[in-house]
Amino acid sequence: MPTHSVPSSVRPMQRRLRLFRSISNFHAKIAGLVAKAKARAYKMEGPGLLYSVACVAEADVVEYRRSARDAAAKKRLCDAVNLKAGHTKNMRRRQSQYKRCDARGIQRHIWLCNYPVQRRYCVERLTHLNVLDGGGVRPIVQCSGCGVHHHEFYTCPSIRGLSGLHQTITGVLASTGERTDGRVFFPPPSGAEDIYNIILSS
Ligand SMILES: [Zn+2]
Repeated sequence: MPTHSVPSSVRPMQRRLRLFRSISNFHAKIAGLVAKAKARAYKMEGPGLLYSVACVAEADVVEYRRSARDAAAKKRLCDAVNLKAGHTKNMRRRQSQYKRCDARGIQRHIWLCNYPVQRRYCVERLTHLNVLDGGGVRPIVQCSGCGVHHHEFYTCPSIRGLSGLHQTITGVLASTGERTDGRVFFPPPSGAEDIYNIILSS
């Protein structure tokens, strides 16, 4: 039917119908993408490691080493550290990926501990949800090394340090039927043993 023959009162209805159709198509598209992502995650789910890593600014390391290195200085350092829980099935590859982040010598990543798990996607997701629920604060800033906005680092005080993170992880492992006694510590990084020990006791 030619457009000029449509009564003017019907045109808004046609517009609404077109809008409705485009919104429906949009929702169908999103639902399709979500279903695909879920299927992909399900397919990729499997055993691996849940790890914790700290990101420390070199400036804070320098400041700590220049200080009296007393309890107050240790607390200042810990307050400035960001901690992350992540998952991988290839630890060596994941560690080498982080080297890009440390490339400019502005910050360094210190590997803390890892837990063997059967469903690494599930336990990592639940860990983040629990950390956020407990008040975890994520300072999302552009990484000075690789340029990416890393979204999974939490300020150390907001998650009550590595012990708080460990407590959350252990709770998730217990509730999902994973073993809770598998924690392994990474060796202290050469030249940063002091910083490693301070974060480990946080
Ligand atoms: Zn980075």
